[in-house]
Amino acid sequence: MAEPRASAKAVRATLRGAVQGVGFRATALRRARDLGVLGWVRNGEDGAVLIHAEGSEPALERFVEFLRVGPAQAHVESLEIDPVKPEGHEQFAIRGVSAGRFVVREHAATNRHFDLQLEVEGEMRAWALPKGPTMDPAVNRLAIDTGPHDVAASLEENARAIVWDRGGYEQGGRVAWPEAIARGHAVFVLHGEKLRGGFALQRTSSTPKAQWLLIKRRDADARPGSDVVAEQPLSVLSAVTLDEVLSQRTG
Ligand code: MN
Repeated sequence: MAEPRASAKAVRATLRGAVQGVGFRATALRRARDLGVLGWVRNGEDGAVLIHAEGSEPALERFVEFLRVGPAQAHVESLEIDPVKPEGHEQFAIRGVSAGRFVVREHAATNRHFDLQLEVEGEMRAWALPKGPTMDPAVNRLAIDTGPHDVAASLEENARAIVWDRGGYEQGGRVAWPEAIARGHAVFVLHGEKLRGGFALQRTSSTPKAQWLLIKRRDADARPGSDVVAEQPLSVLSAVTLDEVLSQRTG
């Protein structure tokens, strides 16, 4: 993780007015990249545009000048700027947009486990979770990197697996993906039926198979003390448990 440069300053900006649906995020991204400003832009739920920007003082001043006006179609009625601590971002990213889909399967192989799959640049990256995922931020769950996933193999697995959860996800963190995964620390937001909110995958060892921890971040979706695997065992597709699937196959 890179430390913020000593000269870097950072601000959080909230823009109101006609600022959504006018190309604000894409234009801010280009302007930030031109100026060497790092951080993120996202649409707020209340029609505002939210920005975290960090960089040299002259670059930030020019970026804030751009924010006062915005792209041609925008009408900025108010701009609130709060100085904050630089966070050491290494990119300027649009947040709050789907990066692809995620799937969690419960799978009866030699050892029963869950598989987490994240679509990263069109390819499914997969981790085996011996104990499954959790919504409790105090519980870290082992996640074994099983590499880019073979779709044909995953379809065959379906005979002894259920789709336990699925949905879309957003990439987060200070480092751009897939670099974040290559470096062993990837932050993301899941929009599933059971798994929701911020998560992190943190690599802890790389031999023999890369071991990671799946961690629920402390946010409004966190459920301290919960056990989502025990509480919500049904397939999100067929509303059956894996045990029911297996007994139908053998019985
Ligand atoms: Mn599996």
